[in-house]
Amino acid sequence: MKQVFCDYAATCPTAPEVVEAMAGLWMCANPASEHAAGRVADDAVSEARGELARLINASPEEIIFTSGATESNNLAVKGFALASTGCWLLASATEHKSVLRSIAWATGDAPFLSVKPSGELPLDSLADRLRQLKPKRGAALVSVQAVNNETGVIQPVRQVADVCARFGAVFHCDAAQALGRLRLDVEAMGVDMMSLSAHKAYGPKGIGALYVRNGLKLEPLLHGGRQEGGRRAGTSSPPLVVGFVTAAKLAEKRREYEDAALGGLRAQLLSDLEQRRVRFRVNGHDDGAWCVPGIISVAFPGNDPERTLIEARRNLCCSAGAACGLDGPSHVLNAMGAPLASLRISLGRWTTGDDIACIANALERAARAGAP
Ligand code: PMP
Repeated sequence: MKQVFCDYAATCPTAPEVVEAMAGLWMCANPASEHAAGRVADDAVSEARGELARLINASPEEIIFTSGATESNNLAVKGFALASTGCWLLASATEHKSVLRSIAWATGDAPFLSVKPSGELPLDSLADRLRQLKPKRGAALVSVQAVNNETGVIQPVRQVADVCARFGAVFHCDAAQALGRLRLDVEAMGVDMMSLSAHKAYGPKGIGALYVRNGLKLEPLLHGGRQEGGRRAGTSSPPLVVGFVTAAKLAEKRREYEDAALGGLRAQLLSDLEQRRVRFRVNGHDDGAWCVPGIISVAFPGNDPERTLIEARRNLCCSAGAACGLDGPSHVLNAMGAPLASLRISLGRWTTGDDIACIANALERAARAGAP
């Protein structure tokens, strides 16, 4: 029987337009070389940097290309901690492990902020914590993601930014899952730093970026050459950079169309499951109003998590939680008090109506196989 790929939140296949844009660049010179071929390679990187900056309403010098959102998150958190003498690092409990473990590394402690059962960070608890800490201006970093990778839950980024501004805290937003799904405008969002990843938006794996507001000091984590304004040493990769920015522009151009298309597929899947009388609920906001439509965390309360997953995987390329969370039960579902017998179904550009019928079928069988 056919296997349906419904793991776009783990990674998206690279778009053909992106592969094409990268094709001519694999033979390029080192962009740091001062000869003519080096200049050509450097021009490709500079042009792409400018385009990405325009896309998110930033300036080119505010963009640091990295190997992906894991590195961007590490640089944001550790770079901030290392640059300051005594600081507070706060994050919601449902952040990606690259944020949580960076904070634990920097502080030896992990006082993460609890979320509501919906997965949303309560703004009053963030404000209460900042009020308690009374940080000096710029001495606290708050890291809250735009979209959760396991549930699709959208955090109230603008309101978080307002709370941070009220207490003089620096705001880092992990927007790895938001590129091509939400409008990313650093001014409108009020973020001081923002992490991006190419492969979550149909770009190549192994490249991402960190937006850092002008004037904000970060200690580099990689020392060596003067690439990326001295903030991230290492030869930059013109094909990856151009592939990333091509993907980002395409994802933004298609954003509204894809949002509507995925919304339709999501509704079709949920109504199909209801018609089949499958006992399930959706983790996060049940009506989907505050989730990106392409990520659906389907819970089967009372089920055995392992049997449910094994049965689902006969026909579905899906996961229980994050692909990178292979080290134990999902901390995201735990923080929300959601059943661990949950499957993350994530849809994308090439998901069809026929795929949805197969997914519903497979979920029905998984629900029955894992039932108590
Ligand atoms: N943050 C979030 C929210 C993610 O979903 C991911 C990828 N699972 C990352 C960070 C890490 O991104 P990358 O794979 O580019 O290192």
